[in-house]
Amino acid sequence: DLTDEETLARIYTARDVAIPDAMPLTVSEPTGKMQDVLNPATGEKIARVMMVDADTAARAIADARIWDASAAERAAVLRRAADLYEDHYGPIFGILGREAGKSLADAVAELREAVDFLRYYAAEGEASPGAPRGIVGAISPWNFPLAIFTGQIAAALMAGNAVIAKPAEPTPVIAAYAIGLLHQAGVPKAALQLLPGAGRVVGTALSSDPRVSGLVFTGSTGTAQTIARTMAANLAPGTPLIAETGGLNAMVVDSTALPEQAVRDIVNSAFRSAGQRCSALRCLYVQEDVAPHLVEMIKGAMDELRLGDPWDLTTDVGPVIDPGAQKEIADYIAANANRVLHKLAAPSRGWFIPPTMLKVSGIADLEREIFGPVLHVATFRGDQLDQMIADINARGFGLTFGLHTRIDSRVQEVSDAIHVGNIYVNRNQIGAVVGSQPFGGEGLSGTGPKAGGPRYVPRFFAPAAPSAVPG
Ligand code: NAD
Repeated sequence: DLTDEETLARIYTARDVAIPDAMPLTVSEPTGKMQDVLNPATGEKIARVMMVDADTAARAIADARIWDASAAERAAVLRRAADLYEDHYGPIFGILGREAGKSLADAVAELREAVDFLRYYAAEGEASPGAPRGIVGAISPWNFPLAIFTGQIAAALMAGNAVIAKPAEPTPVIAAYAIGLLHQAGVPKAALQLLPGAGRVVGTALSSDPRVSGLVFTGSTGTAQTIARTMAANLAPGTPLIAETGGLNAMVVDSTALPEQAVRDIVNSAFRSAGQRCSALRCLYVQEDVAPHLVEMIKGAMDELRLGDPWDLTTDVGPVIDPGAQKEIADYIAANANRVLHKLAAPSRGWFIPPTMLKVSGIADLEREIFGPVLHVATFRGDQLDQMIADINARGFGLTFGLHTRIDSRVQEVSDAIHVGNIYVNRNQIGAVVGSQPFGGEGLSGTGPKAGGPRYVPRFFAPAAPSAVPG
């Protein structure tokens, strides 16, 4: 409870820990190059990481062994890991804050989600044990470097697979810390190895080695397409891939919506976590007659946002993840300078992008997902609603969609017509709840069962056929 001052003070202090280096966790001795890990809010070095080479990846695949234990035993270990995660909240919040630029509120939500994944998949796997596929590669993004990372691993492990996890380049420390806790809980080292390293080295090794029997990936649409091509060229035909990818998420606010509520949800959906959520709002459609007023209200709410180090409890919007992301987003805003409706000022230190609102005529104007605090706004007439939904569907992404309206029948009509994985009505459009609100996209936004949803473990990770890998 972050509104309780005593709790807040306790966890605020607990996260002030030394940040450990990120070392590979493999059966054989790893080799690679040491590299600095940097704090996105300050640019300062916080730790070092060993980026492994292709030989280490090949050895890890050779060393991998499926987890020879009953489903009940595996579930007990994952539950123990969940308890260990909770016990170690201090270092976890500290690493998430320093390495991933997470605010305390975001770090708390992320730990909660990771723990929920462990317990949910433990229960799912126990209920329908199935048989392991063999070696599963788990390739994850930096924006949920604990929750998504843990969810992928927990689902694959629960079915007895041997997992090789590859964290994203900017966030190896939290990954190594989490794997340490999973090993401590009792997951055998040969069943769970960690390979920090470059996507084109380790990711390519996992998607091109015929000994790998399945891949779970979360990241950008472009990387998923590269992985699918590499898999098709090298792996057995039909080797499964779960890909959770990007989106061009829209929200529609009609003239019956409650403006104060809509504005709060728009600003949170577009700018919270500096827009670095796959679910974040990218393209807002406001009904013409209320648009001028609503846009003024959004500007006012943007002006209230405090940019700064997420370590500071008063910060609303932190930095973007690295200088490459900062440059890409800044270049995009500069190229669209004639569309700017409102833009804040950025702090001088750290990799910040000021929250920015751009005017567009519709979703077709958005070339690609911009993974930062940039909101595009279009207007529509009441008689254009059907066309607008058709345009959003035609754009090809299908992750999240938001609707603010007080017309009950419209909720059903629009929900039936829109092709997305997750629909949010009269609320913000970020967030999912493991077990009750499964998350996943359609079209260019992803393929496979929804994370945290029914039968996720048996549908992908535990088919009927037995494994080809020695136990
Ligand atoms: P990214 O695609 O750049 O990287 C994701 C992972 O893929 C990293 O571990 C990276 O090292 C690895 N990789 C890179 N090249 C590779 C290759 N050739 N072969 C194999 N692996 C390779 O994505 P990111 O910048 O880490 O994350 C942000 C993206 O993730 C956004 O597009 C966001 O929308 C998406 N995302 C989607 C979801 C979802 O659930 N749908 C959740 C979070 C993030």
